[in-house]
Amino acid sequence: MEYKMIFPNFREGLKAGKLLGLKCKDCGKVTFPPRKVCAECGSENQDIIEMSGKGEIVTMTVCMSVPIGFQGPYVVAMVEMAEGGRCMADIIDVDPTKTGMEIIGKKVQVGSKEIPGDFMTGGDTRWAFTAKIVN
Ligand SMILES: [Zn+2]
Repeated sequence: MEYKMIFPNFREGLKAGKLLGLKCKDCGKVTFPPRKVCAECGSENQDIIEMSGKGEIVTMTVCMSVPIGFQGPYVVAMVEMAEGGRCMADIIDVDPTKTGMEIIGKKVQVGSKEIPGDFMTGGDTRWAFTAKIVN
C-alpha cells in the first residue's frame, strides 16, 4: 500500500508555512489533518492539496492544566476548515482569562508552531496548530 503523505512530508510542509491536506479523487471531500484514507468514504485515492488555513471555530475550551512544553492557561478550539476537515488549534492573541464561548462561530486563520522536544518525545520536536481570530 502506498501512503500519499507520511508525517515527515506533513512536517516539511509545516516548516515551510504550509498546511497540507488530502482531497479524495473518489468523493471530492478533503481530509485534514491528513490520514491514510478519506475521512468520508475510506478511499486511498487522494491527492495532496495545500489548505488555505481559513476556518471557523465550532467549539472551544480554556486549558488550565497544560502539557509540558506549553504555556498556560491557553484557549484551544476545534476549527472547521474552509475546504473540509477539522483540527484542534491553540487560539493565539486572546486573553484566556477573558475568552469564552463568544468566540464560537468566529473566522480564523490557522497556522502552526513548533514545540521543542522533551523527555516525553525523546527530544523530537512536536507541532501544534495555532489559529488567529480574523473577525
Ligand atoms: Zn472520499
